[in-house]
Amino acid sequence: MSATRVLVLNSGSSSLKYQLLDMRDASRLAAGLVERIGEQTSHLQHTCVGTGATREQHGPIADHDTALKTVGQELARDGLGLDSPELAAIGHRVVHGGMFFTEPTVIDDAVLTEIERLIPVAPLHNPANLTGIRTAVALRPDLPQVAVFDTAFHTTMPESAARYAIETKVADRFRVRRYGFHGTSHAYVSRATAELLGRAPQDVNVIVLHLGNGASASAVRGGRCVDTSMGLTPLEGLVMGTRSGDLDPAVIFHLRRVAGMSMDEIDNLLNKKSGLFGLCGDNDMREIRRRMDEGDDAARLAFEIYVHRLKKYIGAYYAVLGTVDAVVFTAGVGENAAFVREAAVAGLEGLGLAVDGERNAVRSGEARLISPEGARVAVAVVPTDEEMEIARQTYALVGNSG
Ligand code: AMP
Repeated sequence: MSATRVLVLNSGSSSLKYQLLDMRDASRLAAGLVERIGEQTSHLQHTCVGTGATREQHGPIADHDTALKTVGQELARDGLGLDSPELAAIGHRVVHGGMFFTEPTVIDDAVLTEIERLIPVAPLHNPANLTGIRTAVALRPDLPQVAVFDTAFHTTMPESAARYAIETKVADRFRVRRYGFHGTSHAYVSRATAELLGRAPQDVNVIVLHLGNGASASAVRGGRCVDTSMGLTPLEGLVMGTRSGDLDPAVIFHLRRVAGMSMDEIDNLLNKKSGLFGLCGDNDMREIRRRMDEGDDAARLAFEIYVHRLKKYIGAYYAVLGTVDAVVFTAGVGENAAFVREAAVAGLEGLGLAVDGERNAVRSGEARLISPEGARVAVAVVPTDEEMEIARQTYALVGNSG
């Protein structure tokens, strides 16, 4: 029996998300989430896709090791245990791969060391990702384990897009440059958009708008990323749920010197208390819509600032690419909020961009066009699937060797 299953793990500092996929037919077998690891109120939710059974566990789960073992027990109850010979590999989401990791990579000690060396540029994410990897390696040391990096898709950016205009010596020494994130999503969605258009990825130029709680845009020329809106960290670029996105860096000096805030306070302000949430107290686009409908001015202004920034990036990436075949919306907001999509391209008819009201209003989990028939540039909605992309890349690398 050949091994065709891939377990995808996404470890946060206190969470573990997982999916088990079968790459024979790219189907999902099971999925779940362990939250609040290390607290008394840990919670596991597990779904077996085949039977539709969903199970929950409440009560303390001390650490990632216990979390993964508990996940293993849940999978075993569905006949999908982690000791199964059908498991080909484990694919790990790793947020920061720096410039070093341009491709998915089979994990060994040298790879772990390099991911560790990147902690200064990803202090929140990489330590949690490493914990997940170490836990899984301890559990199945015999199995190929692959790191799939959020930054990898963006390593094709030319230096003109990847560099900040600061002193080269300082930038090089401290590895200060634009890395970009959400790369797995941008890779998946740009390829799926080419498929939707019935063309090869190398023949199309696409602007991808990944609008979730975190949000980023990318310009993809012929399947390769040439620019993206997130930078050294995920703080740069679009207005997000709780992150400010672009601002004058002098705002930070001002807050430090004039407002007397500490660096940690400013970091927290810009990452956790800004964006839509900072502007109006809500970061969920559904709630913002509801408040706008009731005539709430703060919600309206937050929405307008969000859309203004989005439009600026569409225009910028149009110019970067020269010709554009498709503008595509994805992630929680992009897939669900028709009013955001409509506002983002409103007034851009001169660029060949428009949405058809009826098509845009359709709610669907499928990739679809929302531009009018015969439009010069396609506007599309393509649901992202980062787990499937991680599984695909993992399986492509290790094949049946597991
Ligand atoms: P993500 O980070 O991709 O899971 O996206 C989460 C965000 O998607 C939420 O914070 C909401 O702002 C947004 N979202 C999810 N569902 C909807 C919906 N039906 N309408 C508008 N926004 C939505």
